[in-house]
Amino acid sequence: TELFQPERPNSEGFDLTDRPTLARIDAARAPFRAHVWQAGPVLAVAAPAGESEETRNPARPSDIVGHVTWASAETVQAAAGAARVWEAPAADRSAALNRAADLYEAEFGQIFALLAREAGKTQADAVAELREAVDFLRYYAARAEGAPPRGIFTCISPWNFPLAIFTGQIAAALAAGNAVLAKPAEQTPLIAHLAVTLLHQAGVPRSALQLLPGAGEVGAALCAQPDVAGVAFTGSTETAQIIHRTMADHLAPGTPLIAETGGLNAMIVDSTALPEQAVKAILESAFQSAGQRCSALRCLYVQEDIAPHFTEMLMGAMAALRPADPWHLPSDLGPVIDAEARTGILDHIAQARSEGRLLKTLDLPDEGHFVAPTLIRLPGIAALEREIFGPVLHLCTFPARDLDAVIDAINARGYGLTFGLQTRIDDRVQHVTERVHAGNIYVNRNQIGAIVGSQPFGGEGLSGTGPKAGGPLYVDRFRASPAPVAPG
Ligand code: GLU
Repeated sequence: TELFQPERPNSEGFDLTDRPTLARIDAARAPFRAHVWQAGPVLAVAAPAGESEETRNPARPSDIVGHVTWASAETVQAAAGAARVWEAPAADRSAALNRAADLYEAEFGQIFALLAREAGKTQADAVAELREAVDFLRYYAARAEGAPPRGIFTCISPWNFPLAIFTGQIAAALAAGNAVLAKPAEQTPLIAHLAVTLLHQAGVPRSALQLLPGAGEVGAALCAQPDVAGVAFTGSTETAQIIHRTMADHLAPGTPLIAETGGLNAMIVDSTALPEQAVKAILESAFQSAGQRCSALRCLYVQEDIAPHFTEMLMGAMAALRPADPWHLPSDLGPVIDAEARTGILDHIAQARSEGRLLKTLDLPDEGHFVAPTLIRLPGIAALEREIFGPVLHLCTFPARDLDAVIDAINARGYGLTFGLQTRIDDRVQHVTERVHAGNIYVNRNQIGAIVGSQPFGGEGLSGTGPKAGGPLYVDRFRASPAPVAPG
């Protein structure tokens, strides 16, 4: 098989520096400024549902964004019984996914409004997310041809990319012809509901795609249905481990789990790095999406000779970041997803403060689940007790002779998602990239925002199972016969 298919342009997105474009976005979002959405299970059969609840804007908790009805154990069972693999020829599946991409693009106003109000996404993050969702649809649509589907796939996705990752898993499973039972994160059912509506409108049959909004119990039920032939999951490492055990108890041996999980991502800045470039890369990697990306930079190692000056520059740049309601363009950082997430992050910051390790934090809006961009000193990555999923960066320094020891300490944590290196020494690029264990390594740039088709994304060790999302081998994992071996 051809691993790399002919050029297929990615979505162009929107240029937020262009005034007419901004006006167009504002006009398209305006009808959704106070809209209240409704979401619930979307099934191929009538079935009882569970409780209903209202969902609120993490930037302004007084703003009710929607009402959701959750799936129950009975809903899951009924959906599994009604699921049917998508029998249509590959060309028809591909056409439907491409039509869905067009519908997503046409619906940008509603999508941007939902990404801001349900998920706390800034406009820049929303533009990037819509692009990625559209790219996943078109990229996997181009790979619909191949071995038969496995059967029913459970897809469980996170709130941090409520459109892109939700869509990516489903699109890959559907491209191969599977039937999908999709459970979005309980924080973001409304965006998922819209996505499923658009996919159905594009021609995906209901029996091939059903939506089951819910929390952990719904996810557990979805991984315990005896007919399930595979699970795709993106979320925390702990949840992936629970899913793995549930699958081992209930599903046929060898049922694949495609998991993309957490990380303790590091960047090394040596004394030859270009400071302005490094500071820009660090701000983006640590604070974009309020640090709520599994790719985000958590632990920065700066060579000690340049550390005092470099840290000064970094803190100066941090001071210019504006956490604010992401509906408005001047917001650089939205809120974290909910009150519980905020409390967990603030506990971590409070601990650092009590130990005298807090270097920098900022003022915040009065309302909303905001956390300030924060810099905390650490002796080394071994001292970081867990992945802090928010805008908190940890700073370590190292003497030049310890470079290898630093890499070993990073590897020793057992994760392996993203890694960043800032240096002007070519030999060092080669040495470090060979030694470090990470799925995505970025040199002299930021370490977030992997692009579908050109930067397949995924980790090793505790960070995931592979194959990489947005890469040529991904869809094959959703097929019955083994994936072809990549040449080279
Ligand atoms: N693919 C995203 C990136 O490169 C991160 C995905 C995630 O957070 O799960 O930034």
